[in-house]
Amino acid sequence: MNLLLTKVKKCKMGTITINMTCPRCNEDRCNNEHNYKTGEYYHQCIYCGYHKSFRYERDDKGHFIKKDPLKEYSLDNFVGKEFEVKEPFGSYKYLFKDGNSYHATIADKAAYDSRLTDFKTMEKDDIASFSISRLIDGKIQVTTIYEAESKDA
Ligand SMILES: [Zn+2]
Repeated sequence: MNLLLTKVKKCKMGTITINMTCPRCNEDRCNNEHNYKTGEYYHQCIYCGYHKSFRYERDDKGHFIKKDPLKEYSLDNFVGKEFEVKEPFGSYKYLFKDGNSYHATIADKAAYDSRLTDFKTMEKDDIASFSISRLIDGKIQVTTIYEAESKDA
């Protein structure tokens, strides 16, 4: 799993999720998770893979890391980290047989290659399909890499 996404899912409190228009491909399915308590956010486009996030760093126990250990435990004394993938290679999607799906950004060609290599050795029992979505010449192009054979047919 995408490490960043895993971390965000662990701290759902105070978080709202809405779809916004993607600043890169203009599709309106850019997931936007915003924590109104901390100001942390996580934008991820499921079509082109655009990603931008801001979060405060935490230690092993999940506590915010203070910039100055002698100052108080408050947002302006925490170590904030902004992360952006402006020109991603694309986005990948696992569609599971139970109808759920998982999307994540593919940052570059090397990440794409390793994603494909990983997929080959992966347990595929729960997976209905695996596809890659990319912004090419201003249009979203979806390539299906794998599709499970239907056992019901
Ligand atoms: Zn996009």
